[in-house]
Amino acid sequence: PSVPRAGELPVLPPDVDRDTFNKAIAELKESLGKEHVELNDKPLVDGWYMEHPNTHDAFHVVEQSELVSSATVYPGSTEEVQAIVRWANKFLIPVFPISMGRNLGYGGAAPRLRGSVIIDLGRRMKKVLKIDGQNATCIVEPGVTYFALYEEIQKTGLPLWIDTPDVGGGSVLGNCVDRGVGYTPYGDHFANHCGMEVVLPSGELVRTGMGALPGKNGADNPSWQAFQHAYGPSVDGIFSQSNFGIVTKMGMWLMPETEHQSYMITFPKEEDFEQIIDIIRPLALNRILGNIPQLRSVIQELAVTGKPKSHFYQGKDPVPEEVIRSHAKNMPCGDCAWVFYGTVYGPEETRKMQLDVIRQEFAKVPGSKFILPQDVPEDHYLHARVRICSGVPELRELDWLNWKPNCAHLAFSPITPTKGEDAKIVHELVTRLHKKWGFDSLPTWCVSGREMHYIAEILFDRADEDEKRRAIACMREMIAEAAAQGYGEYRTHLIFMDQIARTYGWGDQALMRLNETIKDALDPNGILAPGRAGIWPKRFRGRGFQL
Ligand code: ADP
Repeated sequence: PSVPRAGELPVLPPDVDRDTFNKAIAELKESLGKEHVELNDKPLVDGWYMEHPNTHDAFHVVEQSELVSSATVYPGSTEEVQAIVRWANKFLIPVFPISMGRNLGYGGAAPRLRGSVIIDLGRRMKKVLKIDGQNATCIVEPGVTYFALYEEIQKTGLPLWIDTPDVGGGSVLGNCVDRGVGYTPYGDHFANHCGMEVVLPSGELVRTGMGALPGKNGADNPSWQAFQHAYGPSVDGIFSQSNFGIVTKMGMWLMPETEHQSYMITFPKEEDFEQIIDIIRPLALNRILGNIPQLRSVIQELAVTGKPKSHFYQGKDPVPEEVIRSHAKNMPCGDCAWVFYGTVYGPEETRKMQLDVIRQEFAKVPGSKFILPQDVPEDHYLHARVRICSGVPELRELDWLNWKPNCAHLAFSPITPTKGEDAKIVHELVTRLHKKWGFDSLPTWCVSGREMHYIAEILFDRADEDEKRRAIACMREMIAEAAAQGYGEYRTHLIFMDQIARTYGWGDQALMRLNETIKDALDPNGILAPGRAGIWPKRFRGRGFQL
């Protein structure tokens, strides 16, 4: 869309005229306090990770002014979240909840539907409500970041770990409902959540799991964070990657602190990856690999130094393989194609037994090298992995955002079984299409057992319209080609949600029909995050909002 002229800001959501909007905002200010409602009518500032905007997508791959809100509201309690939802129903104003909005690469704080009102839960609802040192669990509000939870646990002195994703400034709850991943044995965040409190689109409040059974004298249920399934249909899943509710509290399991040993293994040849993955599979299934390890292409060793691409290569085209390797040769990883980062846990004897098997198995790849943290300099990325893999939040992963000027990233994240033959199909199409559209390819496989998340980050310059256009074209083609081969993504940026939802179309879109049935039952006015995960409420369907 064209950039709105002065006097036309903020942009309005569909079906809402300016008078109604102004009246609605006045009413919202009245009920929440005017300091807790902010119009999005000032110039948009992208900021950076720690000072990210909640007005738009800081990593805009479309025009900066396209994925924007009309206003942001800051609830201070669950009751206020309920009040906001009832207000949205009264004025038919779409709202979009975020916890921190640091979901960069997937849309940041931006709403899917232009002009929605952002409910920024994180600013005021940021308490760690409980830490149970005996059963190793906690309950958090949306604004609790990994850094905050880590510090809170440190204060208690309890021997507990959290599981953190690559960067620690995000919301524990937000990342979990978006089904993000980390790298300790508790790396599947959604699998390690236990119990939610959710505001439904009607404004009603529910507790899931054992939380639905009131504790003695109205206390929280004592088993709320102990057992996920409770009784009856397990509904927690429908509140992740959806637009069926706003999660205001969540239980998470914490990992008992243990000894640990991280390591890296390098492999010389690009084509080694199939063999590497086939070695990984039995090690993962037998739980000899202790954590969610990563297999990363060597170009990332260059990128995580924080030096720009121009330091390594002057061309604008993708860095040629021989240039990458000529630099890698002089780095701790040496001349190689792949680097595997893993960690084992437990007392020395068990770690030694695991490491012996791991070393022996990977040694089957000719030319592989095993490297320990003490073998590399203090500033090497391996030390950041040691911290991440033992539950210490980090920001180091942001360093590769120096790769280009105005650098932003967009993740292509398909799932494959942990098998070389499947990995090959996806890796080849990603490599080919990155080349076709002129991007460096920086793939990582995160292995969680029977499946791998393949994460390919497209790094683009936000000030370069042509790069943005090519980044979108590359994504769209990768999604379509992967789907044609039977591979689908686990998560995506706002603008690809519709396309990816359609690829999950078995049985003539049977799953989407089910999602739409639930959506229409829970949210008949279509106010909550319309379009998120490709799910559009009835009143917006078939009106050209789908991308
Ligand atoms: P983070 O800052 O941890 O990366 P976000 O707050 O950006 O995470 O959340 C990621 C996505 O998950 C958001 O875009 C939003 O759609 C959804 N989300 C976040 N918090 C909630 C919540 N409390 N209830 C429902 N959906 C949420």
